[in-house]
Amino acid sequence: MSIDDQSLDIAPTGFLQEVPTAPTTPASAEQSMAELHALLRELEAAAAADQRLPPLFDQAIDDRLSRARLGAAAGLFAALRCKHAASAGHSLRVALTVSAWAMWLKLAEEERDAIEVAALLHDVGAIGVPDHILLKPAALDPNEAAIMAHARTMSLEILRHGCASEKVIAIVEHVSAWYDGSGRGTCMNLESRSSESSASKAEAGAAPDGTAEAAPLGSRMIAIVEAFDAMMTDHVYRRARSQERAIAELFECAGTQFDPELVEQFAAFQREDQAAMRWEVAHRWLRSLDPAMVDSYWELNCVTAPIGEPTAEPTFQSRLLDNMYDAVVFVDAAGRIVLWNRGAERLTGLCGGGIRGQAWHPAILEMSDERGQTIQDADCPVFTAIRCGAQSLRRLTIAGRGQRFLAVDAHAMPVINAQGVTRGAVLLLHDATCQLSLEQQCQSLHEKATKDPLTQVANRAEFDRVHAMFVAAHQQQHVPCSLLMCDLDRFKRVNDTFGHQAGDDVIMSIASLLKGACRPGDLVARYGGEEFVMLCADCDNAAAARRAEQVRKALSELPQSRMEGRTATVSIGVTEIQPGDTPETMLRRADRGLLMAKAKGRNTVVQLGIGSEEEGSESKPAAERVRRRAAAKPKEAIEQVLITPVPVGMAVEKLRGFVADHRARIISVEGNRIRLEIDGRAASRLRRMADRPAGLAVDLTFEEQRAQPTGAGKPTGGRAVTRTRIQISVAPRMSRDRRQNDAMTHAREILMSFRSYLMAVEESALPPTGPLKGIARALAPWLIRK
Ligand code: GH3
Ligand code: MG
Ligand code: MG
Repeated sequence: MSIDDQSLDIAPTGFLQEVPTAPTTPASAEQSMAELHALLRELEAAAAADQRLPPLFDQAIDDRLSRARLGAAAGLFAALRCKHAASAGHSLRVALTVSAWAMWLKLAEEERDAIEVAALLHDVGAIGVPDHILLKPAALDPNEAAIMAHARTMSLEILRHGCASEKVIAIVEHVSAWYDGSGRGTCMNLESRSSESSASKAEAGAAPDGTAEAAPLGSRMIAIVEAFDAMMTDHVYRRARSQERAIAELFECAGTQFDPELVEQFAAFQREDQAAMRWEVAHRWLRSLDPAMVDSYWELNCVTAPIGEPTAEPTFQSRLLDNMYDAVVFVDAAGRIVLWNRGAERLTGLCGGGIRGQAWHPAILEMSDERGQTIQDADCPVFTAIRCGAQSLRRLTIAGRGQRFLAVDAHAMPVINAQGVTRGAVLLLHDATCQLSLEQQCQSLHEKATKDPLTQVANRAEFDRVHAMFVAAHQQQHVPCSLLMCDLDRFKRVNDTFGHQAGDDVIMSIASLLKGACRPGDLVARYGGEEFVMLCADCDNAAAARRAEQVRKALSELPQSRMEGRTATVSIGVTEIQPGDTPETMLRRADRGLLMAKAKGRNTVVQLGIGSEEEGSESKPAAERVRRRAAAKPKEAIEQVLITPVPVGMAVEKLRGFVADHRARIISVEGNRIRLEIDGRAASRLRRMADRPAGLAVDLTFEEQRAQPTGAGKPTGGRAVTRTRIQISVAPRMSRDRRQNDAMTHAREILMSFRSYLMAVEESALPPTGPLKGIARALAPWLIRK
């Protein structure tokens, strides 16, 4: 059995209107005028309260305006609003503006009518777009953009099966076409979101009829107005532009995307009083439009075939239902499934052909309720609607496509004919995964927690986390990494002279230059106000310094528009991770480099530290070194005799860096002997006191030596060279407690770090004859560095 729409007694579009609406013909002329006046006052108040364009209407006003303009097809607009209120709001604003413009251009009434209808419904295809795309708070990926582009094709398809005006259809068909027929790329910085911007440019480019020069005037006008409206509106993925900027962007795209003559006219039109113009349009819609003329645009009632049955020529409602993304199911009074649209097929994976005619049971979809209980027939919203005539809207779970359980908003409505006889019930299923998606919420929370809102680079907390991971990776696998620490020069002066906004622009410039210098695996973060850091994965000191220099140079050559074309500069400290480093020591070294760059006069890069290559690191695989270190027996102190190929004065200079970066305390200096203390807390990221390694006592004895070279390494011309011999002892300050192992690990790390800062090798590693030969060989990787 099947039911045709006459027997259902529902207007084809009426059952898409979830909210019952007031009758379109008021009881008396007096009542009608009172209502009209009230509405016009509301409109006036709305326009006066919000001088910023576009005006914000409320839903009741939207409803009345769209009903007045679309008549029998107002349900289409209501369906769009139910699906995506932002798209409906956009369409209404575009229609009001384009109509005001047409009035200003003194276009013929007939032409203006068609433009208004086309503008209101040009985005109705959005009802077929999944929520996760329509509501996505970011730019669309290519697949999503393609689906969005298809929405406009769906608008056309829906209109082709219900609209009697070829003119309206032609206008909607060409709205996306570019004036020059190219349609490639986007002149404007608008995302391809067909509901809110000038639609998908990709699809526009593929417009069947080539250039928009041939497109109807209405299409060319709507294209301009909708792009303007999209730019003037706040979106989750982009903030609204100013009116001047939006007009400027229209001009930028004049001749390519838009008709240049019309852009000029539109700019002139924008100088008129927009609120008054829109008031006049609303007035016309509500007061002057003849309902018979309004309805003459639609052929919605010429249905000859029953709903749900194949026909030679698809009916308007079957087109509409099939273009809806949501699932629509009609169950007749005898409980048989009569209609199962494509949305239902997509959502459930059940084919309409197989399911139509079967008895409805909630078990078909394995429906369960809000508490996860299986829904029985007695509790089924469809049966309740048929039995009691009650509407319901519930969040249920169903078995979706591929047996994936889905949360849906299930809206069940009874269908009652004019005689009050229940003919069945409609079940509308809306995929609620989007609203529910915890993952998405987590993602957005994660973004908030890890990103700097102004520059969209990582924030300091995220940097600290990733930096600790970099250092740990280096300790385990000896993967090199480098750190850039950047600070804008005389930035206070920039703010004071050119204003905070100019300062923000410079901040964005440096952030984007650093991002541009990033490779996969790198991280840029805002460390503080005008300080940025960049972690460069698998990158040595020299390469990092080169990248820093590129960024420094690029900023110093980048004219800042808010600074009257002047440029800003940045100072950068660079360092590579080195043995024994903790995140703190590495950061402090980079910071020291930065301070030195400032002291040198700013706009400079200073690089510190020797890098990650250990003595003999080329010959010993990382894993073996790690094993060797782990196998070493804990002792109470580690002692070594080291040689550094520099005079004692320079060795002490290098010691200063070590002391500063490790926050070591100098306990005593007696002759050539120095005693230091290093706090275990400073070096450790472990929060529990008991887990932290004990502090360390470092004992150092320096002795300058003269040695005769033997010809290896850098040529010295046979002259004696000066070197420094250092006896070092590193011991935990508290011995024999249960933290001994940690303390010894810490001691070894400190020893490694000390050797890195001092560029020292073990004396015992040097061959017995010709010590300088050995030093030169061992230090070769460091000595050849600049
Ligand atoms: P120096 O070359 O020594 O670094 O000088 P400076 O003026 O840059 O140093 P100082 O640290 O004294 O000034 C930093 C200024 O950065 C002060 C603060 O007002 C400004 N600032 C911090 N965050 C922001 C921001 O988000 N926007 C703007 N416009 N300014 C900021
Ligand atoms: Mg600063
Ligand atoms: Mg600064």
